[in-house]
Amino acid sequence: MTRTIFCNGKFVPESEAVVSVLDRGFLFADAVYEVTSVLEGKLIDFNRHMARLRRSLAEIELTFPVSDEQLLDIHRELLKRNEVRQGLVYLQVSRGVAERDFVMSNVEPTLVVFTQKKDLLGNSKNASGYRIVTVPDLRWGRRDIKTVQLLYPSMAKMIAVKAGADDAWLVEDGFVTEGSSNNAYIVEQSGDIVTRNLSNSILAGITRQAVLEYAKEAGIKIVERPFTVAEAKNAAEAFATAASLFVVPVVEIDGDPIGNGKPGPVAQRLRDLYLEECRKRAF
Ligand code: PMP
Repeated sequence: MTRTIFCNGKFVPESEAVVSVLDRGFLFADAVYEVTSVLEGKLIDFNRHMARLRRSLAEIELTFPVSDEQLLDIHRELLKRNEVRQGLVYLQVSRGVAERDFVMSNVEPTLVVFTQKKDLLGNSKNASGYRIVTVPDLRWGRRDIKTVQLLYPSMAKMIAVKAGADDAWLVEDGFVTEGSSNNAYIVEQSGDIVTRNLSNSILAGITRQAVLEYAKEAGIKIVERPFTVAEAKNAAEAFATAASLFVVPVVEIDGDPIGNGKPGPVAQRLRDLYLEECRKRAF
């Protein structure tokens, strides 16, 4: 079955989903994106993703005329046409096609939306846990904007893969910022959960927002502050969150086991809590 993609205002077969080489997304990484997960054919945290998309667009001053309702229709139509029950929907808005120039002109934005079928729940790493290596955070200073400038995160991921690990945690001034494409957490010996506070240094993860909300409702204490690599290595547990991962335990950092080197109970509890709550709200 050939995949249907939404491109340039139309649903087209993958082979016809093409964008000009002059698109500013291609030439300048002048584009923002969202990835929404799908369980049982329903969109998870869709409204939160659209709210973050609007914020990213505003931060780069990109005027985008398509409404959230229209975007929801496009997402649903793609899920239907591509028969996706579990997986991801990727959405990208770039500034559009313009003569190459550092000055941004007011052109028509390019919207691309496609689906990826994925066994998100069957990901075996959720049972065995992630092994992490730490690398310097060499990204730009506006990591709060979800732009397609993903070269360094991709390089960091490759450093991890070449080292036989699953992902990289990025480190700045001795403190963990976040994972290559996820938010990072530790569970202190006291049981408190620590995750870096929001700022320009990290992306405000949608899964982070939802997990923290559900955890607080369940009476679990969360402390939002930066933590060091040494603190992480001495923590009772560690874990990461992202739309494509939900909550995934971290069992090793730079070769040192975290806790007893096995996925911890707090990470497991938060994963169960998140999956239960996000499914209730899915549509
Ligand atoms: N941080 C970074 C740098 C990311 O790329 C991502 C995933 N896109 C996240 C955090 C997690 O965000 P979300 O929970 O919205 O997937």
